[in-house]
Amino acid sequence: MNPLKLISTSDDETFELMHEANKLRQKYKGNKIKLCAIVNAKSGKCSEDCSFCAQSGHHHTNTAAYPLLSSEEILQAAKGAEKNMGATCFSVVTSGKATNTKAELATIGQSLETICQETKLNRCVSIGILTKPELLELKAKGLKRLHHNLETAKSFFDQVCTTHIYEERLNTIKAAKEIGLEVCSGGIFGLGESLEQRIELGLTLKEFKVESVPINILNPIPGTPAAKNYQPMKPLEVLRLIATYRLLMPKADLGVFGGREKALGPLQPLMFLAGANVTLVGDYLTTKGQQASQDLEMIKALGLEIDYA
Ligand code: SF4
Repeated sequence: MNPLKLISTSDDETFELMHEANKLRQKYKGNKIKLCAIVNAKSGKCSEDCSFCAQSGHHHTNTAAYPLLSSEEILQAAKGAEKNMGATCFSVVTSGKATNTKAELATIGQSLETICQETKLNRCVSIGILTKPELLELKAKGLKRLHHNLETAKSFFDQVCTTHIYEERLNTIKAAKEIGLEVCSGGIFGLGESLEQRIELGLTLKEFKVESVPINILNPIPGTPAAKNYQPMKPLEVLRLIATYRLLMPKADLGVFGGREKALGPLQPLMFLAGANVTLVGDYLTTKGQQASQDLEMIKALGLEIDYA
């Protein structure tokens, strides 16, 4: 299998590529779809300059900035995601290269403990670069999975972020793997990366044996550098990316998260038939998602079911 050849499939042959990817989704994931939800627990004023990000302090966007929510507020968000949206996995997300004062880490740990006690949700955090002792502290509080996107290929990273290096991101993933946490790591596409670089990222994720791979498609935020040179990905191009990643990582959870509504438009339900088995319900970090009820309808109409396991 040559992944570059797969992702370079013509429009005419894209549905055949999807058919092969869909067979793998059915084989390894059955007819079940996982639903994740997030809370933006600390927003804005980030020291980093990621070109796509509305929360970077380097860009001028209208995004709200606020300090870390209390553990009670995080718990209430988790309960709402479980009860109102059918989410089965919940991630506490904070802005910043690395969150974390000791007090912030303690608050997040406390929220994990109560989410563990008061919901059936799978617990995840996405709070930037973390050391092994910090990860161990959170694991002891009930953390099951670390979300930490690599964002893009190593060979393109300096075009996306100049304030930290790729190795720092890789080290966080390595540390999480070493202490037995599941890892959810993917990227954001449509930043100007080449097809080769999309494959480069996929091969890195495969090498690290990450359990879950979220695909985000750039939804350009006014005021960010990425919005200035925005070249939208075509819906069939997005479907080829999803299908190629499924073929590359047959057993991984493969999600389509931010930007899916805008990038796929009327073809959105096909993301599952291209091999995805996870999506994110509710709002994204700084942009609105479609209604959770629409997601549930879409899944049902395809003859698929929510994975409540
Ligand atoms: S993606 Fe994360 S690290 Fe980069 S600017 Fe946004 S909040 Fe900061």
